[in-house]
Amino acid sequence: MSSQLLVASHAAGKGTEADAVFSILQKANEAIAQFGKANVVNGSIGAIYDEEEKFATLYAVEDYLRQMPAPELMNYAPIAGMSEFQEAAIKQTFLGFQPEKTFAKAVATPGGTGAVRHVIYNYLEQGQKVLIPDWAWGPYLTIAHEQLRGIETYTMFDEEYRFNLNSIMEKTEELLQTQDNLVIIFNTPAHNPTGYSITVEEWRKLIEFFRACAADEKKRIIPLIDIAYIDYAGTPEETRGFMKLFANLPSNILVTFAFSMSKSFLIYGLRSGALIGLSSSAEVIEEFYRVNSCSNRGVWSNGTRCAQKLLADVEANPALKAKVEEQRGFFRNLLFERANIFLKEAQEIDLQLTPYHSGFFITVPTVNPKAVVEKLIQERIYVVPLKNGIRIATCGIPSYKIPGVATKIKKAL
Ligand code: PLP
Repeated sequence: MSSQLLVASHAAGKGTEADAVFSILQKANEAIAQFGKANVVNGSIGAIYDEEEKFATLYAVEDYLRQMPAPELMNYAPIAGMSEFQEAAIKQTFLGFQPEKTFAKAVATPGGTGAVRHVIYNYLEQGQKVLIPDWAWGPYLTIAHEQLRGIETYTMFDEEYRFNLNSIMEKTEELLQTQDNLVIIFNTPAHNPTGYSITVEEWRKLIEFFRACAADEKKRIIPLIDIAYIDYAGTPEETRGFMKLFANLPSNILVTFAFSMSKSFLIYGLRSGALIGLSSSAEVIEEFYRVNSCSNRGVWSNGTRCAQKLLADVEANPALKAKVEEQRGFFRNLLFERANIFLKEAQEIDLQLTPYHSGFFITVPTVNPKAVVEKLIQERIYVVPLKNGIRIATCGIPSYKIPGVATKIKKAL
């Protein structure tokens, strides 16, 4: 059937490819119905499930939401977000590591997804390309195409699986020959799908490079740091230390952060996050706030009030904050424990992985992802095929089911 009946030409062909994650999840659910939960390893979805494979929540968050009065739960929020929420989002993003002499503002968005959308739309001209890594969260492409922007990719790792700064530099220089605006996405720490975190030393080199690019004052350099998994990646110093390096940048570099409450508070479906802008220039930040607030009005109106209120209250209430952090710490440790079981076995059997530091996923590179996934399905193991690998969502697999998975993957390879 033609993929264009009534839609406009830019919409033709949209949605013709099934979503890789949700189609594997559906198969896993069918297998669970047929063979029972105990006999299926479901490593498809990017949400935490506990050791009994129940949807995990932070109890302090759940309790707090359940007692909220109706207006806080259900009323509209201001278009750019409640001001206490904006302040709390900035605080939670930097946790004391905001560089000196910088200005920061936040605009509420429906999750990190909304923040990515605004940067791609408001900081690139129509038809320009956003630069992303070759290992990347699929929706970056969808979001770019939806805004009539293109995609260019850099090679994230070299042959020895070291972070490939050279590729970033080459691709950036190439793009800057044809466009004055550069939006480049980094999903760090705890990158989806590999679990890689860019080191402070790598950040130092990147920033030096961006400074050199910005010496040409016509160029506008907009790094977008997607921090969706930051709260599961280590201590504040380990996860945010690099942010201090964004001091004294020229005004044609605007650093942006996609802040998300989905994983940090395990409230994926409540759709809350923020786009945060950081600059040495007050004017750049005023423009950032004005333009992105206006985009809120024009795309989804306002965000989810109860989630905004939750973040603001957690920030204002030390006892509640301590509880949330303790419960989140429990799941952070659980993620590390599960990953360690897999990593140890992979090392013992010499299974090549992309470099993993932390997070919800581990990735095995392969040139035959679809065939490997099919073989694993025969073993009742459900993982997601990527372009050049398979992604195992250890966030959803209870510890007792992880031993043996690496070995079966090696066999399937
Ligand atoms: N970025 C990455 C890499 C993700 O994996 C996700 C969620 O899966 C997000 C951003 C955004 O999530 P949300 O829009 O729910 O905040």
